[in-house]
Amino acid sequence: TVFSAGDFADHEQVVFVADEPSGLRAIIAIHDTTLGPALGGCRMYPYASEAEALRDVLRLSRGMTFKAAAANLDLGGGKAVIIGDPRTQKTPALLQAMGIAVERLGGRYITAEDVGTTVEDFGELHKKTKHVVGLPVELGGTGDPSPTTARGVYYGLLAAARHRWGEDQLAGKTVAVQGLGNVGWHLCELLHAAGAKLVVTDVDDKRVSRAVAAFGATSVPPEEIYGARADIFAPCAMGAILNDETLPLFRVEIVGGAANNQLALDHHGEALRARGILYAPDFVINAGGMIRVASEREGFDEALVDRNVKGIGDSLLAIFQRSESEGIQTNAAAMLLARERLSSAATHRL
Ligand code: NAD
Repeated sequence: TVFSAGDFADHEQVVFVADEPSGLRAIIAIHDTTLGPALGGCRMYPYASEAEALRDVLRLSRGMTFKAAAANLDLGGGKAVIIGDPRTQKTPALLQAMGIAVERLGGRYITAEDVGTTVEDFGELHKKTKHVVGLPVELGGTGDPSPTTARGVYYGLLAAARHRWGEDQLAGKTVAVQGLGNVGWHLCELLHAAGAKLVVTDVDDKRVSRAVAAFGATSVPPEEIYGARADIFAPCAMGAILNDETLPLFRVEIVGGAANNQLALDHHGEALRARGILYAPDFVINAGGMIRVASEREGFDEALVDRNVKGIGDSLLAIFQRSESEGIQTNAAAMLLARERLSSAATHRL
């Protein structure tokens, strides 16, 4: 049952959705709306069981609460999952049925693209609900959030450099970038313009050759990126890359990048700290895209978004200081700060 599901924490509302004509089966989880309506992506995935889908949506919606709180957004945490194969089962009728389900929640949940869904799909959802962000520009949205996510990571790395080396300066530093996709590529552009040297890797050889040509980057095979001689490691591909196998290989002083769920397990954050490596918690440093899409609700203002994205650097400095003063890993310090924001908002609401 929902109440006994492993990742059920203190979710406010979990909604099961079915629409027989379109074949839609989905779960929407609203974890916490203390700070505002719950924002989070809508994932479509061929889950092996309903229990697996439920676990995923409960875990991800909870993560969104802390991500929004750490980004100083007046938003709560939510998530939706559609059970099905996006390559074969996604139809306009199914997406519209999902739009109706979102609309029925009256704005308590705001949806966006995620794994298995695209901005174009959200054009369909948008026909049935206004509670959508991350729409294409033609539909009044802000388009691709990746360049803004990259900018947030860049500001975050500047803050980490200031904390570690005394000045927010990346000129002459070497950054090992894992993954040259939407975010990784834009991050390389910013780092290159700032005078940093790049060591890059990707499983797609074409992307690597382009980065070597465009940025004078050095390339290494994917498995060698962890031991690359560099000052900073910026993971921008997949999660769980900070683990028992990779940590002993690191020669860097800072880890910070866009990938979600970088720590394989919580204790790997402590292991990084013990090795003297400054870790910028992923859910804080990669919030730029979310800050951008969230701004669609109040009328997009580029200057305001940029100020808020720069704020990622300030949040990280506070997290680094808290981590040092309390002798705890940075991830735990980030969670503490997010929880404090939530409980102070809850007190004011009473
Ligand atoms: P993407 O799919 O465009 O890029 C990922 C890149 O990583 C691809 O070039 C892929 O070939 C490469 N890659 C995959 N496996 C690899 C491996 N084993 N070694 C090296 N490279 C590998 O994705 P993206 O939008 O750039 O996002 C990157 C990461 O950041 C993801 O974890 C995503 O969840 C996270 N993230 C993205 C955003 C955003 O705005 N796009 C926001 C927050 C978090």
